[in-house]
Amino acid sequence: MFIGHYGPAFGAKAAVRRVPLWVYFIAVQWLDVIWSSLVLLGIEKMKIVPGYTQGSALDLYFMPYTHGLIGAIVLSLVFGGIVALFMRAQKRAVFFIVAAAVFSHWILDLVVHMPDLWVWGDLKLGFGLWRWIWISLPLELLSLFIGAWLYARFVPARPRGNLWLWLFVAAMAAVEIYAAFGPPPASAAAEAQTALIAYGVLALLAGLVDLSRAKPAL
Ligand SMILES: [Zn+2]
Repeated sequence: MFIGHYGPAFGAKAAVRRVPLWVYFIAVQWLDVIWSSLVLLGIEKMKIVPGYTQGSALDLYFMPYTHGLIGAIVLSLVFGGIVALFMRAQKRAVFFIVAAAVFSHWILDLVVHMPDLWVWGDLKLGFGLWRWIWISLPLELLSLFIGAWLYARFVPARPRGNLWLWLFVAAMAAVEIYAAFGPPPASAAAEAQTALIAYGVLALLAGLVDLSRAKPAL
């Protein structure tokens, strides 16, 4: 799952507004940020297998640290703790909402991934909805749109301030559709690099969207 992870980022912003939207954008992909880095370092492993599932060409056969249940919980608590450190107030709320945003990544991955999420012993989980792209793709877009709607609805904006938001959401949906039907990545390293760049660019754009719609201080 790629763009669907941003639904919880928008939703979290609607719940606790003190945290910048770009931080939530990093939070929901935090497991994959570490995963991409570990893939580039050769510590976690995957193979590109065109047609592996309809929704993804990635055979994610070894990623116990970032996508194992224990690792995902630890990474959620660590990231929530780091963000809370930077806050002057509402530290506890920030810690919980950011940790939950990070962990939402694992939950959404669980729904679409093949059983590649390590839990314990020989047990790996994944409901495998990626096998049916006409289920996984609408689900992913739905998650994005619900989150964006909550953000538009509950985070105050200047008049007509949501124009850039909806353009951004439409662009993200277009990227997802291209990723679903475009060519598979050239290699595991290329995939990891593209992912890291995409997460950085999307977080930056989210920050700009958040600024563009903010009410000027009176
Ligand atoms: Zn992931």
